[in-house]
Amino acid sequence: MTKIKQLPESVANQISAGEVVERPASVVKELLENSIDAGSKNILIEIEEGGREKIRVKDDGSGIPADEMELAFSRYATSKIEEINDLYSIKTLGFRGEALASISSVSNVVIKSRTAGELQGIKMELKGGSVLGQVPVGIPAGTDIEVTGLFYNTPARYKYLKKVNTEFAHISKIVTREALAYPDIKFTLIHNHKEVYKTPGTGKLIDAVYTLYGSEIASNLTPIDYEDRYIRLTGLIGNQTISRSSRIYEVFFVNKRVVNSRTLSQGVEEAYHGVLPARKYPVVFLNVVLNQILIDVNVHPTKREVKFSRDGIIKDVLKKGISKTLQTKDLIPKIKKKHLSPKKERLSLINDNKLKQGIEDSESKEYQENFKGDFIRNNYKEKTADMPPRLNKYRKQTAVKENLKLCKVSEEKDSLENNKPFNKNIDKDNNNDLVINNFLGQLYNTYLVTEGSDGLIIIDQHNAHERILYEKIRNKFADEQINTQALLLPVRIDFTAEEIELVKKYLTDLKRLGFNIDFFGGNSILVQGVPSFLKNRPIKVIVEEIVDSILKKGKTGNKSDLLDQVIKYMSCRGAIKAGKHLAEKEIDELIKGLIKASNPYRCPHGRPIIVNISLDDIKRGLGRK
Ligand code: ADP
Ligand code: MG
Repeated sequence: MTKIKQLPESVANQISAGEVVERPASVVKELLENSIDAGSKNILIEIEEGGREKIRVKDDGSGIPADEMELAFSRYATSKIEEINDLYSIKTLGFRGEALASISSVSNVVIKSRTAGELQGIKMELKGGSVLGQVPVGIPAGTDIEVTGLFYNTPARYKYLKKVNTEFAHISKIVTREALAYPDIKFTLIHNHKEVYKTPGTGKLIDAVYTLYGSEIASNLTPIDYEDRYIRLTGLIGNQTISRSSRIYEVFFVNKRVVNSRTLSQGVEEAYHGVLPARKYPVVFLNVVLNQILIDVNVHPTKREVKFSRDGIIKDVLKKGISKTLQTKDLIPKIKKKHLSPKKERLSLINDNKLKQGIEDSESKEYQENFKGDFIRNNYKEKTADMPPRLNKYRKQTAVKENLKLCKVSEEKDSLENNKPFNKNIDKDNNNDLVINNFLGQLYNTYLVTEGSDGLIIIDQHNAHERILYEKIRNKFADEQINTQALLLPVRIDFTAEEIELVKKYLTDLKRLGFNIDFFGGNSILVQGVPSFLKNRPIKVIVEEIVDSILKKGKTGNKSDLLDQVIKYMSCRGAIKAGKHLAEKEIDELIKGLIKASNPYRCPHGRPIIVNISLDDIKRGLGRK
């Protein structure tokens, strides 16, 4: 048996350092927190190679007295708390006295620091936690700490470092969040000698948001200031026009500490329920100020998670405060959905442009509404007697139009009957057993009713097209690249520094998917071209959502899963929508495409594409069986 031995201190430090120092971003976070705690007004963060080469944080804060320098790097040395009771009234970001010890145990550190009261500063060098030497230096008051060779002595951890862009994205996220929490401090972030951003330090959150997230987000935010049961909420919340498909734009500060919290997310999301589309998350930058006694910060070594002793109350206050702000600021659109959608549907039933024009020309809005409403109700039941004469004219035209449509359908039916069913018309290279003999009609501008080998087959036009596009894009993507259609007007999109890194990282893949992207300086891109099937779609939203989904999945999932997910999303966005009237040619292509598909039964997201009403069911229903 091996004897029990005490581990050398540097080894002990390394073991628990894993909790604090996971990756370069954790170093940046700890150093930033120290600079903030020191009352700095300017903080410079200089990174090389995603932090693998160098992390430097320079501040103009209080500085470390020369005679305490060495102590600052020993474990559990802190100036921030003295006894256990202080833990309940923590006002500073740090308090464990672990960070400098942990960081220096896995890297080389050069620190220079001077307090305002000292004439000269001190420079100290450490390697793997051991002090190599100290010399006096002349520097401005503040602290300048440089960490190089991170994890040089812990190869296992070094191996787990991700690519430069990934590590830098983590760093940028940390700096962004601290810059939002402290808008009165000027943060300058530099990567590989290039300035990524510099916050203005005006003390106004909106100014920081503008710098970090761009004008689109900044101009769709409204201030919140709400207090209830000793909990105060301040900050900025997004209106219903901006939303994201992940929680990454839900940013919370509890007593100025950046935190993640399910309780807070839930409160916010409940308030936005019904305001944003399903599965969309709001953009909020929310400061929650409450009595320290209600929080337990000491739960997680990285201090990111908070636990509240009164979860329910805090959630409730958030929900109320945000709902109230959304309502009083008139951020919820007045038009009720109920009003809007039937009107849209009605219009889409009337396909003839001239006819539409006629309606628009008619004097009375009321007439229009009556007419359109009646058109729906009387589509199959002529009831013209009580209609105003002028409208009768349109009624007749409409009826003729409908007849024409029916004729055409029956023409097609004839030709199909004369020839062969759809299946035999095309060289089917897949073994699916879908048989469609005849197209019968489009129902509610959404479903294609067809005759199958056994009864009716009803096809959902959107789901079907989504499946066809998905298979097409996948096949094309596998061999070459998807055709790009240049946009007449390029679309500019502002991203965060973290997102822009992802765009850079996935640029080749995005190109192969048909997106032609130029960088526009700062964190903006110009989309110059898109896959042709997306050209009339909301490009900005689509690209943002693709980046969002990469951001969400990119860290955990593997790349081919991720790209598959993006292709599914693109197929859904590019597919014909429900409620759209289709021309014969489109219907023909759709049905042929579906018959050819390797799986004509489910859309790539798993929703059914067709329902079959068997001949037996029809017979039974009509009393023939
Ligand atoms: P903690 O922040 O938990 O106290 P650290 O290991 O991060 O522990 O820092 C140890 C001590 O070093 C701090 O308590 C503080 O007194 C001093 N210190 C560290 N960084 C700075 C800085 N940038 N400016 C002034 N003092 C600092
Ligand atoms: Mg600290």
